[in-house]
Amino acid sequence: MHVQLASAFEGTSFGKETSDILGKCVHCGFCTATCPTYQLLGDELDGPRGRIYLVKQLLETKEASKITRVHLDRCLTCRSCETTCPSGVDYGRLVELARPVVDELCPRPVFERLARWLLVHLMLGPWFGLLLRLGQTLRGFLPESLARHIPKRYPVGIVPESHGNRRVLMLDGCVQPAMAPQINAAARRVLAKLNVDVRSANQAGCCGALQLHLGNTDPALDAMRRNIDAWWTEIENGVEAIVMTASGCGVTVREYGQLLKNDPIYCEKAKRVSEMTVDLSEFVSAEDVASLGRISQRRVAFHSPCTLQHGQGVRGKVERILKAAGADLVSTRDSHLCCGAAGTYSVLQSELSIRLLDQKISDLNQDGPELIVTANLGCLAHLASGSPTPVQHWIELIDSSPAS
Ligand code: SF4
Ligand code: SF4
Repeated sequence: MHVQLASAFEGTSFGKETSDILGKCVHCGFCTATCPTYQLLGDELDGPRGRIYLVKQLLETKEASKITRVHLDRCLTCRSCETTCPSGVDYGRLVELARPVVDELCPRPVFERLARWLLVHLMLGPWFGLLLRLGQTLRGFLPESLARHIPKRYPVGIVPESHGNRRVLMLDGCVQPAMAPQINAAARRVLAKLNVDVRSANQAGCCGALQLHLGNTDPALDAMRRNIDAWWTEIENGVEAIVMTASGCGVTVREYGQLLKNDPIYCEKAKRVSEMTVDLSEFVSAEDVASLGRISQRRVAFHSPCTLQHGQGVRGKVERILKAAGADLVSTRDSHLCCGAAGTYSVLQSELSIRLLDQKISDLNQDGPELIVTANLGCLAHLASGSPTPVQHWIELIDSSPAS
């Protein structure tokens, strides 16, 4: 696809990167077949090819309208289209680059801006844990429509002192320690069983994904720099990997190198961080998984998050670990499609998000599983809000096996 850049974008890194990405698109439209929003809405502009044309228009005219913004907002950034695309179009990066420019050229109404600001500050601020605890306490008195979004509290269990002779770093995450502290505790126990000592850096926080997906590039890059600084001493002291228990964070940390490539101070460090980052399933599946014991549940459905299968290209690892533990993995329809969580999408595009959730729950339950497992907190909370079958992180299931 040829792009005639508007003069204002000529010679800019934005113009170069976006036109390089667009240059690979041959407008074949294969991607529309696997796009969840196109499947729901049937509008070309709600599919990847249509959105690509909207970005092309933006690049050529330096103009954006409400139409541009609405259709880009409806995109889940699930990157299913990237998996399908035969030309290797880096669609996710294209949208990430375009969103802040669209916001600048066609500012959002005040109410929308306020809602987004509140969302970020609520989730990343010091009040999140407290408000969540309050919501959990009052859950029984709240209307069902609100209560379903408040995750239940589960016991964390004892996290043993690790005396492993190997060391990894783990990102605790921003909302995960408050919403589901049992996940990281389970990961620590399983890794301890594999003789791996887990370190966390107190100063590390949100991976930056939350701000990045809302088009707030500068605060997102600051969060990334802060994490790199927080991890650097452990990296220099020889940790073997940075292990992610949430695939939504993993996909972003894996892109630190790309995202900070123009930062002369952080580019090399960011590249090293990205190269060292692995999803927990990649790390565990390379170990002696048979030593982790057998699980009691047999019929298990696995929901592979988009950030794992499309964003990171990690496929088959969780399945391998579950099968080694004795699970009978049940089939699920349309496993490539998003559940509708997609970070803040479930709040900002709640109608589409619920339609995707209903479809996903039906697809996951088609073969009557005893349990649904996934690999990302956002998907877990979203699925649990409407699923008749219990939902867990897969590491919790492995941790529950008698031998671990
Ligand atoms: S599949 Fe790839 S090349 Fe074809 S229209 Fe979609 S993005 Fe463009
Ligand atoms: S990222 Fe997902 S929702 Fe967005 S265009 Fe691609 S397939 Fe569709």
